[in-house]
Amino acid sequence: MIIVGGGPAGSAASIYAARKRLKTLFITSEWGGQSVVSEQIYNWIGSPSISGNDLALNFKKHVLANVGDSLEVKDSQRVNTITKNGEYFYVKTESGEEFLTKTILIATGSGRRKLNAKNADQLEHKGLTYCASCDGPLYADMDVAVVGGGNAAFETAAQLLAYCKSVTLINHSDTFRADEITVNKVLKNPKIKAIKNAEILEITGDKFVDGLIYKDITDGKEKELKVSGIFVEIGQIPNTAFVKDLIPLDKIGRIEIDAWSQKTRVPGIWAAGDCTNVLYHQNNIAAGDAVRALEDIYLAIHTK
Ligand SMILES: Cc1cc2nc3c(=O)[nH]c(=O)nc-3n(C[C@H](O)[C@H](O)[C@H](O)COP(=O)(O)OP(=O)(O)OC[C@H]3O[C@@H](n4cnc5c(N)ncnc54)[C@H](O)[C@@H]3O)c2cc1C
Repeated sequence: MIIVGGGPAGSAASIYAARKRLKTLFITSEWGGQSVVSEQIYNWIGSPSISGNDLALNFKKHVLANVGDSLEVKDSQRVNTITKNGEYFYVKTESGEEFLTKTILIATGSGRRKLNAKNADQLEHKGLTYCASCDGPLYADMDVAVVGGGNAAFETAAQLLAYCKSVTLINHSDTFRADEITVNKVLKNPKIKAIKNAEILEITGDKFVDGLIYKDITDGKEKELKVSGIFVEIGQIPNTAFVKDLIPLDKIGRIEIDAWSQKTRVPGIWAAGDCTNVLYHQNNIAAGDAVRALEDIYLAIHTK
């Protein structure tokens, strides 16, 4: 079998595959997955607190410890295409290597959704950023904005509140998607302000961000907010473009799976983690889903 993706889902699956001695090739572009940018993760089972970098390192160490007769690893490799011919799939990487298999587990996760507003692309990395852990400290003692209302936005705001002068959270609707406990905790901080029902129209600034213009949806008026940094946390886009012609996806590009078994609609292909249409996306869920997939794959192979 071939496992694609080295986040919690793909890493967990590859360890199980090796333990079950399934002949497996594991391909990933990077180790650790999305939360590698997190300063600390507090809910990874078995670790009261662990940095994203250490989590990635642990995945790598754990997978590599299982390399042997049955498991082979190709890291720093991106899968570009998967095509089907009869009962075989051809998995091609960007370096041009091609592998043949009858069984695939896709665990390619997701990436950041980009802000659709005037000048957002031009001012990216010039005050507008998608990674608070990477860029946040550059904005110490400054006024900043966080765009979004989910857990990632609140986590980002909490990080920034530690050293920024003020944080304005801008949410497009009237309600926050983040867990209530997190919302209440973060909004208690006197340095934070929340603007709800706001549609961001434009990022302002010449060489560097100096603010943003938003439409207040409640009264239709355009308003301006002066900030030195903008942190965007408005959701994820599944990394599934490379299989869009092979596997049925839902309307936002997630792989449709049977949640009992992780099977996709294409016999021979399973999927797990954030690239699938499950409702909840977390490290432990991704790892658990991938283990379920692996159990189902094992059964499928051994009952053929
Ligand atoms: C900022 C942030 C903080 C978070 N904090 C937490 C937290 O505290 N606790 C928690 O439980 N969850 C957290 N999450 C959610 C959690 O990170 C995800 O649910 C989890 O990473 C999903 O795992 P995954 O294995 O499905 O995908 P991902 O983690 O996205 O991993 C996908 C992997 O596939 C690789 N890949 C992608 N495309 C290809 C390709 N074509 N070829 C080869 N390899 C490919 C990538 O390099 C990556 O290694 C956070 C997410 C973010 C963005």
